[in-house]
Amino acid sequence: MTEHGVPDARRADLAAALASVSERIRTACREAGRPEDEVELLAVTKYRPASDVALLLDLGLRGFGENRPQEAAAKVPEVAALRPEVDARWHQVGRLQRNKARSVAEWAFRVESVDSERLVDALDAAVTRALDGGERSERLSVLLQLSLDGDPQRGGVVSNERDALAERVMASEALELHGVMAVAPLNTDPDRAFASLEEASGRLRSQYPHARVISAGMTADLERAIRFGSTCVRVGTALLGDRRLTSP
Ligand SMILES: *Cc1c(COP(=O)(O)O)cnc(C)c1O
Repeated sequence: MTEHGVPDARRADLAAALASVSERIRTACREAGRPEDEVELLAVTKYRPASDVALLLDLGLRGFGENRPQEAAAKVPEVAALRPEVDARWHQVGRLQRNKARSVAEWAFRVESVDSERLVDALDAAVTRALDGGERSERLSVLLQLSLDGDPQRGGVVSNERDALAERVMASEALELHGVMAVAPLNTDPDRAFASLEEASGRLRSQYPHARVISAGMTADLERAIRFGSTCVRVGTALLGDRRLTSP
């Protein structure tokens, strides 16, 4: 009745949820006239146990988003122990403090929430050190998190600071600029917000053509984000259900 000690019921639930989210993405791509392989599904596994990530790996997902570096630092090796034969790619999607850069450098494939030059410098130093020490073998992919309502309190770089931030990443040793990320603001028309993200992405790409990723859209608004060019939707609730704290 169980494989790897996980109840079959959980496996079936996750398979059904993944099928339903994948169908939402397919439909949204069709309606937007976009090829569906343009949109990656990132499973946001914050507050979820390593056993869930292992099941999602079995179901074919490879990209996982985490919010709290401490939680991720514990979960990443647990997942690697459960499924040593597959490589998960871990994304830091939540706000990141500079003093967590060292930890993130050890497990992250991508940091999606880069919003200050000081954070760029901290990540660059930490990743350089991890590369030198053999703790990682690849440079760190980063996205610039953009503020779509001009309120920096909610995270994200405001529009007049974006060029300097992109230049800072480009000047780094160990970071690669791959695009933009945003969370739709609460008190702004979501169509306008996603449209301004798409426009900002276009401007960035005109300077740095490889910075193609637009990470936007979550459980509630993934269709809208896909309509406005998202190439990566970050889905937690629709895949994993309501969040529960894992035991520490
Ligand atoms: C939690 C989280 C998500 C996923 O949100 P859901 O609404 O559960 O799909 C996406 N992006 C970020 C930055 C998050 O923190």
